[in-house]
Amino acid sequence: MSAFKALGLNDELLQAITDMGFETPSEVQEQAIPILLEEDTDLVALAQTGTGKTAAFGFPMLQKIDVASRTTQGLILSPTRELCMQITNEMKSYGKHMKGLNVVAIYGGASISDQARQIKKGAQIIVATPGRMKDMISRRMIDISKIEYCVLDEADEMLNMGFHEDITEILSHSPQEKSTWLFSATMPREVASIAKEFMYQPQEITVGSKNTGSENVTHEYYLVNARDRYQALKRLADANPEIFSVVFCRTKRDTQKVAEQLIQDGYSAGAIHGDLSQNQRDIVMKQFRSRQIQMMVATDVAARGIDVDNITHVINYQLPDEVETYTHRSGRTGRAGNQGISIVIVSKSEVRKIRSIEKKIQKKFEVKEVPSGMEICEKQLMHLANNIKDTEINDDIEAYLPAINESLEDFSKEELIKKFFSVEFTRFYNYYNKAKDINVKPGHEKDYRDDTGSTRFFLNVGEKDDFNWMSLKDLLKEVLNLGKDDVYKVDVKDSFSFFNVDEKHKDLVTSVFADFEIEGRKVNVEESSGGGGGRKGGGRGRGGRSGGRGRSGGGGYKGGRRRDDDRGGRSSGGYKGKRSSDGGSSDSSKRGRFGGSSEGKSRFSGKRRGKSKPEGGGTGGRRRRD
Ligand code: AMP
Repeated sequence: MSAFKALGLNDELLQAITDMGFETPSEVQEQAIPILLEEDTDLVALAQTGTGKTAAFGFPMLQKIDVASRTTQGLILSPTRELCMQITNEMKSYGKHMKGLNVVAIYGGASISDQARQIKKGAQIIVATPGRMKDMISRRMIDISKIEYCVLDEADEMLNMGFHEDITEILSHSPQEKSTWLFSATMPREVASIAKEFMYQPQEITVGSKNTGSENVTHEYYLVNARDRYQALKRLADANPEIFSVVFCRTKRDTQKVAEQLIQDGYSAGAIHGDLSQNQRDIVMKQFRSRQIQMMVATDVAARGIDVDNITHVINYQLPDEVETYTHRSGRTGRAGNQGISIVIVSKSEVRKIRSIEKKIQKKFEVKEVPSGMEICEKQLMHLANNIKDTEINDDIEAYLPAINESLEDFSKEELIKKFFSVEFTRFYNYYNKAKDINVKPGHEKDYRDDTGSTRFFLNVGEKDDFNWMSLKDLLKEVLNLGKDDVYKVDVKDSFSFFNVDEKHKDLVTSVFADFEIEGRKVNVEESSGGGGGRKGGGRGRGGRSGGRGRSGGGGYKGGRRRDDDRGGRSSGGYKGKRSSDGGSSDSSKRGRFGGSSEGKSRFSGKRRGKSKPEGGGTGGRRRRD
């Protein structure tokens, strides 16, 4: 308590702090409160939710406003309705000994006239979501021309959600001389630029290091085939009977689908996403808070309203596009001194995303194996045993015991235990007993690739033209202006080749090769009729092997007209070149040729008309997912 006093807080606040049972200030409070109390300054604070940041700006704002006046003096903008209500409640508790204090929440989805009425009574502090706030200002229901303090809470989230314009509009109705306090979990470029736009020489404080996740969170990933994602999720849930988690999906549709599947499979799950009404969201949130729901499947935007501590696991059912989003997701666990685990279920093609997350959060992921069926059975049995051990005896059971004892009197204690546990064991055993291992062994992922959303192309140059997989890949990367992972499954045959690109680059390939020559020869590139398949495993790592005759089973060009070429080997356009004697795979002279050497480049520097910019190359603006 004296620690709070030392920060300079007044008696009314100290009393509330005692009531709430806060013992020591959190790090962000320790750093922010003295600055904000002593100076009229702008402030940028990097702090995640759960660090006590509401009080870090709330205490100083409450202490600085004049409760005797009914003028609106403080505005707090927050991204979601849930957060808005949460902040309002916190502010009310902090200020409960301040007579005459009126904190009003303004958010969409509720009656605007009720909110206007509350404002009319005189709100010294307004906590608002940007959309509704802008609306009410434009209808002259709210006057913020005299505010002295403005908080932009979870600024990164607000910008992510596309509120930049609304914020600008709102702030244009506020006085220049106010103090602006910006709180954000991360500091992407957009937040830095908003700080520049709206603030004057802000002081900066950081809790923990920039862009890194909580110290209390460990990060794990499980490598499976994309089709086994749901199975992996189920097994992880079964292997953690006490799980209390948020499961993140990328789209509203997937969120709903996964939740429905989980419910159907008997899990206590729920969904929260933008297609649900506010009422539905409130109900599901209440169930989650009271732990009727153990697994909350959520989109990123909807999850921002989840203000629940003690989440044991964050599960990234699908990885987000932005690393920042991963930081937010994983920040839902490991709060309030608890340990948390952030799990990512990855398919083979996503492992490189893990690497970029590791760089950003400056933490290593642990590669874990999805537990086997038998491991799950064991976990469940031990869970049951511990539950039994910890269960308090309900005395009301006495009345039923004679009948129970009578029906079981022929069994020994050992038999009873076996029978009792068999009830649970059989349930899991029957399901998992023949369950296959769904782990993709680490190290193999580089050789695999998800074929969904991938297009395979045929190209009429091959080993006869002195290409091997590596040199051809280099050529393709260069002329298409794509990254090393964007061109894959490069399969070089005798007189032709195949390669894959993601669907999004399909048009680029078609347009670049519409008119393209190598050494005066027209290069013909066509979409392979076999679709997105192609070589799986092995080949890429070993380098341009020339085999592939018997590959129709696993290959993506199965049934395509080029198979004839594959068999015949010489019919592709009658181009005759020298054939390498060693099959081409490791001929270093060849490899060097297109490995960026000027010689290699000159070879295809001929005509290249109609080249368009690679799609998806630019970062562009952030998209709102739901
Ligand atoms: P916030 O980061 O503002 O969302 O706060 C997270 C939770 O921590 C809230 O439930 C606060 O009531 C609580 N809290 C804030 N400051 C303290 C403190 N100094 N000691 C204990 N709990 C706190």
